[in-house]
Amino acid sequence: MTEEQCIFCKIVKGEIPSMKVYEDKYAIAFLDINPVNPGHTLIVPKNHYTTLTDLPVTLAQHLTMVSWKIMQAVKQEIKPVGFNVINNNGKRAGQLVPHYHIHVIPRFEGDEKRFGMLWVTKKLEEEQMKNLQKGINENISKL
Ligand code: 5GP
Ligand code: ZN
Repeated sequence: MTEEQCIFCKIVKGEIPSMKVYEDKYAIAFLDINPVNPGHTLIVPKNHYTTLTDLPVTLAQHLTMVSWKIMQAVKQEIKPVGFNVINNNGKRAGQLVPHYHIHVIPRFEGDEKRFGMLWVTKKLEEEQMKNLQKGINENISKL
């Protein structure tokens, strides 16, 4: 998908309407058109990036700060009992709109049927865990 066709680029440019709750030089936040719960908000960088690993780290930090503000404001407004802050990275991970965004999803008692985020865990062999630890740790030291 090109940036011209990207729905969130169009929202950023004001070419299609959105219920905006925040805007600054680098980001906007607006209500999700299909919310899990009232107050479900998306935080979106103004420039087009597909996933978190495509973003410069300073922009990722900025978007985290915006998410924090949105959570504070939503908390005051509707007093949820909790939040999920989620970003789906890649189709396989459930990303439908290929313009990076953070979901701030307020949670209420009894909403688990609608939320539906389930995962099933499995134990790995000790050796595989150790190899993963070593590999990831070495990669981090090179960043
Ligand atoms: P994803 O699965 O990519 O993480 O989530 C995409 C989200 O964008 C969905 O929750 C969907 O409801 C929301 N969305 C898709 N199109 C629009 C739109 O045109 N306007 C708004 N406000 N939200 C949208
Ligand atoms: Zn885009």
